[in-house]
Amino acid sequence: MRGAVIHAPGDVRFEERADPVIEAPTDAIIRLTATCVCGSDLWTYRGVDPITAPTPMGHEYIGVVEEVGSAVGTIRPGQFVVGSFFASDDTCEICRAGFHTSCVHRIPIGSIGSQAEYLRVPLADGTLVATHELPSADLLPSLLAASDVLGTGWYGAVAAEVRPGSTVVVVGDGAVGLLGVLAAKQLGAERIIAMSRHESRARLAREFGATDVVAERGDDGVQAVKDRTDGLGAHSVIEAVGTQESMMQAIRSARPGGAVGYVGVAHDVTLPGEELFYSHVRILGGPAPVRRFLPDLLDRIQAREIDPGKVFDLELPLGQVAEGYRAMDERRSIKALLWP
Ligand SMILES: [Zn+2]
Repeated sequence: MRGAVIHAPGDVRFEERADPVIEAPTDAIIRLTATCVCGSDLWTYRGVDPITAPTPMGHEYIGVVEEVGSAVGTIRPGQFVVGSFFASDDTCEICRAGFHTSCVHRIPIGSIGSQAEYLRVPLADGTLVATHELPSADLLPSLLAASDVLGTGWYGAVAAEVRPGSTVVVVGDGAVGLLGVLAAKQLGAERIIAMSRHESRARLAREFGATDVVAERGDDGVQAVKDRTDGLGAHSVIEAVGTQESMMQAIRSARPGGAVGYVGVAHDVTLPGEELFYSHVRILGGPAPVRRFLPDLLDRIQAREIDPGKVFDLELPLGQVAEGYRAMDERRSIKALLWP
């Protein structure tokens, strides 16, 4: 088969890779229907995360099951499935508590590489969720979004304790931030303040339910939030960037007793203990346990209640994966969908 392999910063190639085979009896092999480039792939693409050898890329995927190992019980060949970026057993104590990305048996899909024609999915029964029937073509982008960015934005909103009537701030206007807006709206937020200075992204944020768009960043952004919340700050803040500035902006935008859900992959972030102590702000984040939310999200998509696939503003054949990376790196595209 063929798939994406990164050789050096900025050097993604579409090349021959070994066909995946069943390695453990709990594995499944799926033929990918669609895959995509993630904002977090750009950390590798830009050389922030080191590349020591040619590495397969990608961790988002939807597809049709081709083959299952002898110990797979509920997943069957022919099913259309969605999985997330960590394989998980869905049975250990950590999974049962809803934190599948810390499953005691977790395996990162990024270490296998889903920007390809086929994918081996470990722990298939725990990792994959099958749709009731083969979905119609127009639902595919939204189902693919559920694999990571929708589930991650959703977890950000849940971690930020968004409730009916809440005022919510979303820091970050990438795909995760935009879908954090969608999640906050679905969870009943009354006021949603999206931080964005890009016209097309701000427009999509409004479409997903943002009531306010604020262009200021850092302390000015915090002040703009305070100005809109009687000086108190927001009940809930979703942080979807992962830098020192965005994290502090998120914490300072929350009111005492409020909560921050942080889902931007943190890079060189240091939190000041004393300021946190006096802030009375709860923080919960980390790699989103997307698997917890997948059954509910797939139902909402198939019922056409939500259309998260709108974050894909570029569609390419998988063979042009390098252009997908370039377009996202240069911020010409929010998110690139790849058709194998
Ligand atoms: Zn587990």
